[in-house]
Amino acid sequence: MNKHYDIPDPFQTFVSKKYANAKGYIHDFFTGEWSYKCLTCKEDMSAPSRKIMTKIRLFHTRNECTGGY
Ligand SMILES: [Zn+2]
Repeated sequence: MNKHYDIPDPFQTFVSKKYANAKGYIHDFFTGEWSYKCLTCKEDMSAPSRKIMTKIRLFHTRNECTGGY
């Protein structure tokens, strides 16, 4: 087996992840914060990490504007 591990460029990783599954998430490299604008009600949300951003987004869409569900 060829054990070759590429060290991913952080920006490349960010871009590919962004388009792969983090729909609409924006990562601010300067503050380290993630932000997301709800596609349904256009409300802006922000979180210190992508994981928390997802929790906030899911809570929002399920309990607040019910967008997409
Ligand atoms: Zn919303």
